[in-house]
Amino acid sequence: MDQDKIKVALITGSTQGIGKAIALELAKIGFSVVINGASTKELSEEYKNILKKIYKEDLKEKSLYIQADVSKREDREKLLNKIKQKFRRIDVLVNNAGVGPIKRGDLLDVTEESYDRVMDINLKGPFFLTQALAKWMIELKTKIKDKYHPYIINISSINRYTASINRGEYCISKAGMRMMTQLFAVRLAEFDIPTYEISPGIIKTPLTEPKHISERYDKLISEGVSPIKRWGEPLDIAKPVIAIVQGLLPFSTGSVLDIDGGFHIHRI
Ligand code: NAD
Repeated sequence: MDQDKIKVALITGSTQGIGKAIALELAKIGFSVVINGASTKELSEEYKNILKKIYKEDLKEKSLYIQADVSKREDREKLLNKIKQKFRRIDVLVNNAGVGPIKRGDLLDVTEESYDRVMDINLKGPFFLTQALAKWMIELKTKIKDKYHPYIINISSINRYTASINRGEYCISKAGMRMMTQLFAVRLAEFDIPTYEISPGIIKTPLTEPKHISERYDKLISEGVSPIKRWGEPLDIAKPVIAIVQGLLPFSTGSVLDIDGGFHIHRI
C-alpha cells in the first residue's frame, strides 16, 4: 500500500454519535481515519469490528485512535504529532467534538466553570486545532502536487441561532463557531482549502439520549418543530460530509448546510 496516496481524515469526538457515523462513512469511501475521543483509552471491540469489516486486513494501517481532549493544548499537539508520525498527511479535518453543559439550567445560574468548559471544548479547541492543521495543509499543498484537496468541516448546531436559555453557554459556543467557519473560509481561500459548516437539528445520539431530553424532543417533533417530523440520525449528518469531501460543492466556502429537517425555516 502506498501510504502517501491514501487520504487521511481526522474526526474529533468520533467514538460515538455523529462523529462515529462520519468516521465510518469516510472509511467506506477509502479514507484512513483518525478517531478521537476524550474519555476512552481504547476503541471498543464493537467499533474495531466494524472498522475491520470496512478495511479488512488494513485495519492497523488505515485507522488510528487517539485519546485527546481538544480543549487542551498539549493534547492538540499530541493529535497533530501522532498523525504526522503515522500518516505524514492530513486531508480532512472535521471539528465534531462538542459538549453541552454538565447540567442544563437557568441562564441566570450559569457558572464560570461551566461556561469555560463548554467554550473551551466547543470553540477554543476547534479554533486552535484548525489553526494548526490549516498551517500543515498549506505546507502539504506545496509538497503533494497530485490530487491534494483538503477540507475543513465544522459541526455546529441549530443553537448557533436558536436561543435555549437552559444551555446558554452551548448556544454562545455554536454561534461563535459560525464566525469561526467564515473566518477560516476567508483566510484559507487563497490556498484553496474550503471550509464548511454543518448545522444539525435534533439528532439521535448519546448526547440526546437521557430521558428528560429525549422525551421533550419526542414531543416537539410530533408537534412539528421541524417540517420533516422525525429525529435526525447520525448518518443524516455523515452524508453531507461525504458530499463535501468528494468535491460536490464546488465554488463554495464558508457555507453552512442546515441538516435539520427544515427546522431553520421561519413559519407563521
Ligand atoms: P455525543 O455526546 O454522542 O458524542 C460526542 C463525542 O465527542 C464523543 O466521542 C466524546 O468522546 C467526544 N468529546 C467530548 N468532549 C471531548 C473533548 N474535550 N475532546 C475530544 N473529544 C471530546 O455527541 P453528538 O450528539 O454525536 O454530537 C456531536 C456534535 O454534534 C457536537 O458538536 C454537538 O454539539 C453537535 N450537535 C449534536 C446535536 C444532536 O442533537 N445530537 C444537534 C446539534 C449539534
